[in-house]
Amino acid sequence: MKIITTIAEMQQQMLRLKSDGRTIGYVPTMGYLHEGHMSLMKKARPENDILVLSIFVNPLQFGPNEDLDAYPRDFERDHQVAEAEGVDIIFYPSAEEMYPSKASISISVVERTDVLCGKSRPGHFDGVGTVLMKLFNIVLPTRAYFGLKDAQQVAVVDGLIKDFNFPIELVPVDTVREEDGLAKSSRNVYLSEEERKQAPELNKSLQIAREAIESGERNPGQLIRLMAEHINDHTTGAVDYIEIYSYPDLKELETIKGKIIIALAVKFSKARLIDNIILEAE
Ligand code: AMP
Repeated sequence: MKIITTIAEMQQQMLRLKSDGRTIGYVPTMGYLHEGHMSLMKKARPENDILVLSIFVNPLQFGPNEDLDAYPRDFERDHQVAEAEGVDIIFYPSAEEMYPSKASISISVVERTDVLCGKSRPGHFDGVGTVLMKLFNIVLPTRAYFGLKDAQQVAVVDGLIKDFNFPIELVPVDTVREEDGLAKSSRNVYLSEEERKQAPELNKSLQIAREAIESGERNPGQLIRLMAEHINDHTTGAVDYIEIYSYPDLKELETIKGKIIIALAVKFSKARLIDNIILEAE
């Protein structure tokens, strides 16, 4: 396994591999790898000749009061995980390497950002779009793997690939959970012991909404109320949002119908957690 830290070397390697006719599977991450990331690598490994993992905590996608400096990092451990998952190349650039000077062109995501995390994290998806535009041009992937835990990100990446004609197949991968239902996340380490016990209630609230839909409830407002009540009764977290939209276009719904996403974000003392389910309603 190779570790590459410069854009020049990475691009050179990837151009060589592409001209040899190799297919490239790509898993972009911010590191501190867990089983969610591993499921993306496990899916990508057999589907491609070469597996590339990038580890880059992208400053552009963090707001001024967010956890950029506190974001957990452990390259040595990540290195071992990547090795065990059969990664061929880790691209591990510094922020200076990725952003050596002020950009002269900016990416602004204009669709699907006035809802969910786009609304509560202004500029977040512009930062995601910018870094992926660069990473796709550096890594030149055949397929790119993204987790549905960040379902809005999957929808935005789908738009980026289509709008800018990247010859990349987007592969969405289901959310990996702890045994108690909590979605795996690098940020879970920042939950206190008590908060960690409460955190599975977020997934529980999503299941309550699912069951209510299965029992015939079709009013989005009523489902949101049920979920908010459950989270407020069973956790000390503060609800940032609970929202229901059509998926993947993220449009508002008057009534539950078709493919929908039910998504939430809840702030605990040191960690903001997100989760969602996507389902098909009759
Ligand atoms: P991150 O390092 O948080 O930027 O995540 C990198 C990739 O891993 C993204 O595509 C995430 O959606 C995905 N990912 C993170 N957590 C999970 C999870 N629990 N299950 C599946 N994919 C995940």
